[in-house]
Amino acid sequence: MSDLMNIDKEYVANTYARFPVALVSGKGSVVTDVNGKEYIDMGSGIGVTAFGIADDAWQAAVTAQLGKLQHMSNLYYTEPCAKLAQLLCQRTGMKKVFFCNSGAEANEGAIKAARKYAMEKKGPDWYTIVTLENSFHGRTLTTLAATGQDHYHELFQPLTPGFAHAPANNLQAVTALALEKKAAAILIECVQGEGGVIPMEQDFVKGLAAFCAEQDILLAVDEVQTGNGRTGALYAYMHYGIQPDIISTAKGLGGGLPLGAVIFGEKTEFVLGSGDHGSTFGGNPVCCAGALSVMSRIDDAFLAEVQQKSDWVFSALSGAPGVESVSGLGLMVGIKTTKPASDVVKACIDKGVLCLTAKNKVRLLPALNIPMPVLQKAIQVILDVCGEETA
Ligand code: PLP
Repeated sequence: MSDLMNIDKEYVANTYARFPVALVSGKGSVVTDVNGKEYIDMGSGIGVTAFGIADDAWQAAVTAQLGKLQHMSNLYYTEPCAKLAQLLCQRTGMKKVFFCNSGAEANEGAIKAARKYAMEKKGPDWYTIVTLENSFHGRTLTTLAATGQDHYHELFQPLTPGFAHAPANNLQAVTALALEKKAAAILIECVQGEGGVIPMEQDFVKGLAAFCAEQDILLAVDEVQTGNGRTGALYAYMHYGIQPDIISTAKGLGGGLPLGAVIFGEKTEFVLGSGDHGSTFGGNPVCCAGALSVMSRIDDAFLAEVQQKSDWVFSALSGAPGVESVSGLGLMVGIKTTKPASDVVKACIDKGVLCLTAKNKVRLLPALNIPMPVLQKAIQVILDVCGEETA
């Protein structure tokens, strides 16, 4: 084991089961380890480096901003923050943005806003947030409570009260629970990511949107993993023809720097007022300059390319030896393999391809601009590994 790995093992909190790979640099979708071995990156830092490693345009935007103003308090105006909020609203039809640093923090903001909206509109009993079983919304105590997977909860009781979970794709169950619990909001991932790359059904999402509008219960979509072009639409809710009341996002938004956003629609734009919420680093000018570079390039032509790559990936994998099924949307792909997913991931590392897992599936979240030949090479390695007889 290398010195670096030993130091890390001794001094970094033991919260991550790291693979024995120490990475030092990269370009685009190729990363290099301390020994000079190259890997195709099919995980992009769990859907973060939307345009790959050290993307030229992103790097130029970030470094230019670094030389001007690396941070400023939210007591003052800064250009990248204002321009990014404007761009996000223009591209989504939403009205206002609150910036933060991560996905969990974005969901915290969404939950706070939903609680305040319902408290003011309907009274103090309307505080429950209904989420879906098998969902994932983050690791703070409140977003753990929102996460509909018991095994994340067990050791951290008591969690924030006021959350209830109903089965995904079961409109009757979700709406009944929302009425019974006097829900402030229903919070969903349009594609459950950590839960195993499972897209929600069209009728379910459309039905929820109609129910929420009718009952004046807010519909919040967690686009932390699915957002910013990942699924072949700018935001995954756009595949369903609905308009949410609140969007939370992070990951790919900053292209590799920590940035989250809560995006408010017509009903919610004025809910959070001065002093209701804040975040020292939220809207950091360097992160926002990088995000502007990312978001301004995710246009319709770019999204069409993401979709074409996705179509190719799905057809290359579906029905291949050792592949039981393929799920997902766009470049958010889950592969149910005959072999255990962790074995596939380890074998792929040996062959120079970095993949992720989600539950019992191999998960792929490559950079959205991964060149086709690089993508083809990586998928061929995955196909070889899945199809190989186990000794
Ligand atoms: N929500 C979803 C759907 C996620 O996939 C994640 C992270 O994987 C989060 C929230 C939490 O994001 P973060 O790790 O940035 O707090």
